[in-house]
Amino acid sequence: MAIERTLSIIKPDATRRSLTGKINARFEEAGLRFVAQKRIRLTKEQAEQFYSVHAERSFFGELVAFMISGPVVVQVLEGENAVARNREIMGATNPANAAPGTIRADFAESVEANSVHGSDSAENAAIEIAYFFAGTELVG
Ligand code: UDP
Repeated sequence: MAIERTLSIIKPDATRRSLTGKINARFEEAGLRFVAQKRIRLTKEQAEQFYSVHAERSFFGELVAFMISGPVVVQVLEGENAVARNREIMGATNPANAAPGTIRADFAESVEANSVHGSDSAENAAIEIAYFFAGTELVG
């Protein structure tokens, strides 16, 4: 299996409830390593651009407002099959459908405030990592 990198974001509902450590432990216990991590506040423009694929969706405005409602932790995870592995650990978008033991099943508040983001393909991971991190900030 290939060693991959993926972008993860701990969303404002989770930073607000001080869940960063608990969520990070799940990634590490699953064999994913942190190669970069920073706590930031997204600007409205950053959030709109990051989620621009959803610009026409009815939930877009609320999603952007949510993503700028508090700090987020952007992080790069590395490991075998990291993109798919991270998505497994996160669970389904809607916590009502997320498998038991996943981050979203255990921590998410709603389909919007669902605690974590994870890239959905290796191609998008490369784009999303470059959106937040310079190459020199990735320390493997
Ligand atoms: N989202 C929402 N309402 C919906 C679907 C999605 O607010 O009906 C939000 C939710 O925070 C989700 C994000 O939009 O994580 C991106 O949606 P996507 O379908 O890409 O899900 P993900 O890849 O995050 O599981």
